Amino acid sequence: MFYFGKKKLLSDVSAAIVERFEDGIVAIDSHHCIILFNEGASRIFGYAPEEVMGRHLNILLPERFHLQHDLMIEEFGAAGAAVKKSSHRSRQVFGRRKNGEEFEASIFIINTGLGGLRPGYAAVVRDISEDKRTEDELMRLAATDPLTGAFNRREFKALADEESLRANRYNRPLSIMMLDLDHFKRLNDTYGHAAGDKALQRFTTLCCNALRTIDIFGRWGGEEFVTLLPETDAEGAVIIAERLRKLVNQSLLVFNEHKISITASIGIAQYRAGELTVEGPLSRADSAVYDAKKAGRNRISVYRND
Ligand code: GH3
Ligand code: MG
Ligand code: MG
Repeated sequence: MFYFGKKKLLSDVSAAIVERFEDGIVAIDSHHCIILFNEGASRIFGYAPEEVMGRHLNILLPERFHLQHDLMIEEFGAAGAAVKKSSHRSRQVFGRRKNGEEFEASIFIINTGLGGLRPGYAAVVRDISEDKRTEDELMRLAATDPLTGAFNRREFKALADEESLRANRYNRPLSIMMLDLDHFKRLNDTYGHAAGDKALQRFTTLCCNALRTIDIFGRWGGEEFVTLLPETDAEGAVIIAERLRKLVNQSLLVFNEHKISITASIGIAQYRAGELTVEGPLSRADSAVYDAKKAGRNRISVYRND
């Protein structure tokens, strides 16, 4: 049963409902000490009620949120009657389980009116970490290519357009590379589609490991990849492209006892002043790739802006 001091907190019916409620229910007094902790809260936080009763609410929160949480409760109290709308009483917070694990929770705060001079509060707590994981995974799947894990065309375009606006606003250099694997059809025809798939994966890993964290790498489609190079002019892009070209050229893909060499042709284009989307630079990089192919493949070509 739930008591506040010697006073019974809830009628028998309310106590039964609170106890068996699926969500966690945690109530605190005016000193933020726990006075009620139902079964749902035990399930979520991993504490038995007797382990937390009378202890400060902070025991249920990651340390870095202690102050923030105190302020939130004060702010909630100060808002008083204004906090009528249920949306104002809902928050997303981080909780901490007994085993130290952090999790995301949605809470719904209620002013209980109990607790002496200053009011006490109760929160209905729902563990949303599983929902969050699913949401993150769906976001990742929507943004990436399943074979290589690189950004897909749509995500690349969205990220590149954002970066285009930023570079234009701050007048910063920005370049793009298009990378096309050489004679890829032949590789597929000779060693099979599975070898081709492995080559695409290997190529992606090599590039992603060699690029800077600010660079944005994507699969444009088939055996064509793109990379946006922030803070980089055409000369800087050539250095990066040459590093990638060499790495790929030196790496042998071992597949069913075969040692398969891969090469790529790379086209580079620098953004022109006032270009606000990736379309123009991309089509120039594409035309530079064509030049690199014509010149013999496994090489770099730069689209000259003049
Ligand atoms: P080039 O040197 O001129 O670029 O010639 P290429 O053979 O690389 O170019 P082409 O466009 O003729 O052929 C590209 C091949 O890439 C054809 C297609 O079957 C293959 N391809 C596209 N996507 C995939 C994929 O996901 N996996 C595999 N294994 N092959 C793919
Ligand atoms: Mg191609
Ligand atoms: Mg190709």
